[in-house]
Amino acid sequence: MLDMRSNDYDVLIAGGGPVGLMLACELRMYGVSTLVVERLAPGAGEPRTLTIHARTLEIMDRRDLLSDFVAAEERTAGLDDYRRRLENTSARGHFAGMFLLGRGTVATEQPRELLLPRATIETLLARRATGTGAVVRHGAEVVGLEQNADGVAVTLEDAQGSTVIRAGFVVGCDGGRSTVRRHAGIDFPGTEPQMVSRMGLGSLTGPDRLPMGWHRNEHGWFMRMPDGRISTAEWDHVPPQAPVTDEELAESVRRVTGERIQFADVRFVSRFTDSTRLAAQYRAGRVLLAGDAAHVHYPAGGQGANLGLQDAVNLGWKLAAACQGRPGLLDTYEAERRPIAERVLLNTRAQAALMRPGPQVDALRALFAELMDFEAVNDYLTKAIYGTDVHYGGSDDPRVGHFVADRPLKTHSGPTRLAELLRDGRPLLLDLTDASMAVRTAQPWTDRVRTVAALDTDAEAAALLIRPDGYLAWAGEAPVHDEDLRTALTDWFGPARA
Ligand SMILES: Cc1cc2nc3c(=O)[nH]c(=O)nc-3n(C[C@H](O)[C@H](O)[C@H](O)COP(=O)(O)OP(=O)(O)OC[C@H]3O[C@@H](n4cnc5c(N)ncnc54)[C@H](O)[C@@H]3O)c2cc1C
Repeated sequence: MLDMRSNDYDVLIAGGGPVGLMLACELRMYGVSTLVVERLAPGAGEPRTLTIHARTLEIMDRRDLLSDFVAAEERTAGLDDYRRRLENTSARGHFAGMFLLGRGTVATEQPRELLLPRATIETLLARRATGTGAVVRHGAEVVGLEQNADGVAVTLEDAQGSTVIRAGFVVGCDGGRSTVRRHAGIDFPGTEPQMVSRMGLGSLTGPDRLPMGWHRNEHGWFMRMPDGRISTAEWDHVPPQAPVTDEELAESVRRVTGERIQFADVRFVSRFTDSTRLAAQYRAGRVLLAGDAAHVHYPAGGQGANLGLQDAVNLGWKLAAACQGRPGLLDTYEAERRPIAERVLLNTRAQAALMRPGPQVDALRALFAELMDFEAVNDYLTKAIYGTDVHYGGSDDPRVGHFVADRPLKTHSGPTRLAELLRDGRPLLLDLTDASMAVRTAQPWTDRVRTVAALDTDAEAAALLIRPDGYLAWAGEAPVHDEDLRTALTDWFGPARA
């Protein structure tokens, strides 16, 4: 067994995609020494445009990243058609290509989704991660790992050769084909592809009769966006093993639309399927998984990165506590996040089924569209895609586990917002009682917990204990029951200061 007595880093993150970088940002808020290892050069990943939905945006606001995301989107050209399509239909999102979501009563803090190139998200998160002290190493690949009771020895390969780095924990954020998952011995069961999608980014030369937007027909579906993106989907085709080519995409466009395209200035082509898989476990000892390494599914509704970013925000503070000697919370990561992934796998499988060609599915879609006219149905699906239905169960108190809505607050130090009070990742005890009873009880935890007395007449309780990820850990009524609050503080954030 390798000597692992002295670790080089508290945490090594394999994969500098959106999820790995978000996790690095989270860990650095708690001073956890963090290395991100990414095999590609910065920005060299597939140039996908990712839809970022309401719950992720609400979380970005609680990390002071939202304004950067919004400003970056305003600088991103070429996505207006998609947005216009939503505006024309007064919808805010689609389900299986039915642009009908968001017509009901769902209220979110964030009025719309953002569309951001993946490289932009990575640039913004890498800037925050490195600016707060994470080390991000590009051009190095994780090729093996071995763990014992003290840490994990990770073998990296780069242009110079092979090195071993020791870390207290390793998180595999290395995507659907995760090397970390394989070396940790974690299975990835699920379903095989039923369909193949191809996507390319370039310009069309020659006759151009392909309409903009998303179109389903008896052969599959295709989509064209003004930024030069063309996608197709076909069922009952076995995905080829060879690397995808421009010609393969053009052939697929011809089969689906009947049009022969000439595609020039091609910046990339890719192929993806509806293969749907969920890791058998999210943790094996000191190795954890997050993002696509833990779950893959068809990218219908643009949910994968959102799911993974929220994995990272759920995991970060718990892993930081483990690095600081309190490993007890780590098991709640899988307990909380796995059911959320299962729901996304369910809805993306359903969407892929609803996109199939054929008269039976035509009928199913027509009926589904009628059902989406019912406000309760529309709200239900809208919340699923936005991620605003996320709730961590397990408490007798039905308020616990819900995301705590932002609100203006009047505090002794002046007006603020709840979201702003969570920006440094500290849990928040918000005391809305007249006599600041909860704040007094929490005094022995103020090294870890921010305590704030405020006025909020509409609050769901007299005192709220809010986790770093924005979800409710405990709620109490006046007069606050000291013992209950002490128990909640100890369970979530460790024993009182001596
Ligand atoms: C066409 C398409 C459109 C999509 N659109 C959306 C959308 O609109 N919204 C949305 O939320 N999601 C969308 N997704 C899903 C989204 O892209 C993924 O869920 C997301 O990228 C997952 O992020 P990740 O960081 O977990 O993994 P990845 O993005 O796969 O990143 C993993 C990183 O790890 C690196 N890596 C891999 N192996 C190693 C190794 N051994 N050593 C070092 N580094 C390694 C890779 O180079 C990569 O940079 C889409 C997916 C596709 C295919």
